Amino acid sequence: MTSIHKHPKAINANSASPYVKLRSINIGDCRWTEGFWAEKFKLAEEVMVPHMGSLLKGDIGHAYNNFKIAAGLMDGEAKGMLWHDGDFYKWMEACLYIYAINKDEKILAELDEIIDVIGKAQEDDGYLHTHVQINKSGRWRVITDHELYNSGHLIQGALIHYRVTGKTNWLDLAIKHADYLYTVFEPREERLCRFGFNPSQIMALVELYRTTENKKYLQLADIFVSMRGTASMDLHETVPYWFTGDQIQNKTPLREEVQAVGHAVTGMYLWSGAADVYAETGDKEIIEALDRIWDSATNRKMYVTGALGQCHHGAYDDKNMIHEGFIDDYLMPNSTAYNETCANISNAMFNWRLLGIKGESKYADVMETVLYNSAMVGISEDGKHYFYANPLRFNHGQREYSDHCDCTESPDREPYIECFCCPPNLVRTIAKVSGWAYSLSDNGVAVNIFGGNKLDTQLLDGSPIKLTQRTNYPWEGSVSITIDECKKEAFEVLLRIPAWADSAKVAINGKDAGVDVKPGEFVTLSREWAAGDTISLELPMSIDLIEGHPRIEEVRNQVAIKRGPVVYAVESPDLPEGTGILDVHLCADKPLVAEHKADFLGGVTVVKGTAMLRPNETNSMYRKVKKPNYKTIEAQFVPYYAWSNRGTAEMTVFMPVLWSC
Ligand SMILES: [Zn+2]
Repeated sequence: MTSIHKHPKAINANSASPYVKLRSINIGDCRWTEGFWAEKFKLAEEVMVPHMGSLLKGDIGHAYNNFKIAAGLMDGEAKGMLWHDGDFYKWMEACLYIYAINKDEKILAELDEIIDVIGKAQEDDGYLHTHVQINKSGRWRVITDHELYNSGHLIQGALIHYRVTGKTNWLDLAIKHADYLYTVFEPREERLCRFGFNPSQIMALVELYRTTENKKYLQLADIFVSMRGTASMDLHETVPYWFTGDQIQNKTPLREEVQAVGHAVTGMYLWSGAADVYAETGDKEIIEALDRIWDSATNRKMYVTGALGQCHHGAYDDKNMIHEGFIDDYLMPNSTAYNETCANISNAMFNWRLLGIKGESKYADVMETVLYNSAMVGISEDGKHYFYANPLRFNHGQREYSDHCDCTESPDREPYIECFCCPPNLVRTIAKVSGWAYSLSDNGVAVNIFGGNKLDTQLLDGSPIKLTQRTNYPWEGSVSITIDECKKEAFEVLLRIPAWADSAKVAINGKDAGVDVKPGEFVTLSREWAAGDTISLELPMSIDLIEGHPRIEEVRNQVAIKRGPVVYAVESPDLPEGTGILDVHLCADKPLVAEHKADFLGGVTVVKGTAMLRPNETNSMYRKVKKPNYKTIEAQFVPYYAWSNRGTAEMTVFMPVLWSC
């Protein structure tokens, strides 16, 4: 398996992809050393990943049991959702990002044992789906069996295993499986054109092409992109209930799509996979469609937290029942927002790909918004409890919640969720952020995500580049980057200036860099660098009030608090006892002050300010109103991601705003 790739061990090994401007570093080239991401990685290494492993390998999660049963090593029933195999592979992938940094051989030994069982479960022709095999329910029966979702994570996990370890025991199973898929889908029975919603397999097949250089995997990925929108919207033997039309991105062929539609996760996986196909083929119709979809998702359907999927159950038009997905432009409910953790993460995944393809920092801005807000909210401070849905407001009595553990809309993070797609997705993301922190331009390096780290990689010409980044971001706005080693010839350092950073300053060796620093763009620092050169970036960490577009009815006359990339919320433990979250109004012209609390909620900067309470005294739907009697309080606002770590609470991001109070 020879490779012309400069960085073949990247998460997305796009260093030889013809239609990419910023390329990935190898896994392990960047290591967190201090601050936010170092702390989260440590929690992933010590708690999140091992704890999740004990759930999934034990009887609660039952995922490993499913493989053992399918392999004939154990008796029992298939349990968990039909996509449980895929979620187990995601946990295995998370283990590999941890191993890439800590080189703990026990992790690999355990994975080898599991891979051996997976190999025994795989059928001779390459098919693998434990539920279908155990239940003998039949292959390619209904699209909701999620066969291709499981395929995607099987292949993706195997590639990361190969890239990190050089071992082929998992990759061999993945290739056997991908070869089987090729025989099923090229050519394919007409009925199969509906398959491939929730298509993690497209991204994985492009990566398999990148590693093996076997073009048939790229061809298969392109087939899965092109198949969307080729079936009628009628119900079909393969399509149960409402899984038709826009819900599964099957109403409009992708190349003709004009907006983000349907299930938010399956959409973002499709569009991420299509972006990977574009990176290899340069298919203009694909990138033009993705531009339209990005604009729709980001500018008309995305929450201030970077979250996607405005509703659990809704409708787009009379033929488009929508489940866990996108609805109309600017229709942005707070308390009933679905915002599945996976959807938010997949938004970052889509933007990561567009960042590479376009080289524009606005995509990294979205990634950052997701990471600090709508992704991180999915896990508790202790690393053992999970949110699935992530509304921007929670007030008691807004909904009936089931005690049953498969509830995806829970008032508290759950220790286990029957539908377990989000937790391993989030943990693998936390474990791999270092792989997103930097990219490589044609002759330089781009700083995408800030955090204390050391980078040790090669520029695309093969010359070594070593950097040390020091910062306490996102709590402080100073970022210092020292060149430890580099080539003698000139090269560029691209620094992302977030769109919110109105007055960022860049200096080199203590002197103003003399460059035009524009919010929302990379600033390019091009010169002959030497070891010891230091770049200083000062980002203004002002506390900003954010309002929505006037067409967002749900936030009219309301504001959210944001400091740097972090969105804040007010939560009932910080309010006088008995205060309802809907009583809280923000005094916008009173000072808002940041205060760092190292021992609070895992170490956060809180915002303090003044709020006014207007108790709700009636339950009538409509009533006459007179100027209310407000009660003034000193309020504390916490990072949205850190809410619900102090018992069952009410919370809101957007609050009614009062001026001149
Ligand atoms: Zn999920």
